[in-house]
Amino acid sequence: MEKSQLLRNLPKIDELLKEPIVNNELNSTMRTIVVEALRETIDKYREFILSNNIEEYSKEDILKSFLELLEQRNSSRFRKVINAAGVIIHTNLGRSLLAKKALDNVVNVVDNYNNLEYDLKKGQRGSRYSHVEELIKKVTGAEAAMVVNNNAAAVMLVLNTLCKDKEAIVSRGQLVEIGGSFRIPDVMNFSGAKLVEIGTTNRTHLYDYDNNINENTGVLLKVHTSNFKILGFTEDVSLEELVQLGGEKKIPVVEDIGSGTLIDFSKYGFTHEPTVQESIKKGVDVVTFSGDKMLGGPQAGIVIGKKEYIDKMKRNQLTRALRIDKMTLAALEGTLKYYLDEREAIENIPTLHMILSQKSEHKKRAQKLKKKLQGRVKNFKFTLQEDYSMVGGGSMPTEKIQTYVIKAESNKFSPQELEKRLRENKIPVIIRISNNEVILDVRTIFDKDFDVIADAFGLLD
Ligand SMILES: *Cc1c(COP(=O)(O)O)cnc(C)c1O
Repeated sequence: MEKSQLLRNLPKIDELLKEPIVNNELNSTMRTIVVEALRETIDKYREFILSNNIEEYSKEDILKSFLELLEQRNSSRFRKVINAAGVIIHTNLGRSLLAKKALDNVVNVVDNYNNLEYDLKKGQRGSRYSHVEELIKKVTGAEAAMVVNNNAAAVMLVLNTLCKDKEAIVSRGQLVEIGGSFRIPDVMNFSGAKLVEIGTTNRTHLYDYDNNINENTGVLLKVHTSNFKILGFTEDVSLEELVQLGGEKKIPVVEDIGSGTLIDFSKYGFTHEPTVQESIKKGVDVVTFSGDKMLGGPQAGIVIGKKEYIDKMKRNQLTRALRIDKMTLAALEGTLKYYLDEREAIENIPTLHMILSQKSEHKKRAQKLKKKLQGRVKNFKFTLQEDYSMVGGGSMPTEKIQTYVIKAESNKFSPQELEKRLRENKIPVIIRISNNEVILDVRTIFDKDFDVIADAFGLLD
């Protein structure tokens, strides 16, 4: 057909709006978005014609293009992905998944008015922190607690409250960077505290702290080196020694414990990570940790310790800018409730369950997924093999969790190409490449997503 004829035959928007397919979309999508998608679709066909890319088209083709475009527009930018990488606390993929009670609590609280800052006993203004403070005190053994936006904010608040224009003494071995954006020295600068670095990268002694204490010292700070280990000729001052020194000199000891596990993982065969309860028991004045790492809750920063210090923080104006929102608070409360019984926590908090679930369980699950995949596609080879999952999130950096994974091989795609294709799936599947092999680690995959993965491979077969 002639170009000019093809152009003339392009349907008008008004005309397309009368099509049942389009009209039906108006039930669920705003009219402006539908009209815009129609216009863009027609424009696209006009360009195709002008650049001699097509010689004919039907109205059905145009409607199909329109529906594809609309679906793209309607899908959220922020959406579900499948973590097949086997990194449990994957910071890029949203860290910890919420447990059931946490989810339910969020929905109940935000779908209704709530007592966020209302004291129902007294019938007057209340504190948003009250909803979790008792629970945190109970599970950690601390005298007082409060929560802010994240652990970076918690560290900043503590230093700003206790150490503004004063000196914070910290070991050179603990000046850590976490995830590229959190650097202890930078956070300290923002807080107004002056950093006094002591010792060396690998060795710091008690006398290093003692020798640097003066009338302007605000805190003794200990940062848990959560994402790396220094091995070999090393020496670090124990918390006990630091607490004793702080007590003698009347200087608060602050610990950023990072991941903040409430469970002693050494009971389950892992190397011992310091727990929050241990730090409190040892007499540390203030401890901060994250809500969405080993705790397995929402993004939050938890500050616990001596009541006099926590009260000061609650009064600090900075708290207003760092404050936690109601959805997070609801999720945190729901998560913390499980910790009243450790078995419940391990069973129900996804992060904990994933870390502690057994290799034998994942062997069975990997076999099930492999079967599904083999049933769906012909041009891939799937192999069950032993491998390791990682905790991630800068937690337990040296811990390798034995597991079973599926290796996927294809003649058609290189590992890199396959990784990309799976990532571009409608529900993105994020795998890991190790030793130039595509690996699917079932530890971080839900059974309910096995079919989605099989479908994703099916489209590539
Ligand atoms: C992860 C981490 C932080 C930052 O915590 P966020 O909750 O991500 O803000 C701070 N300190 C340490 C030691 C950490 O491991």
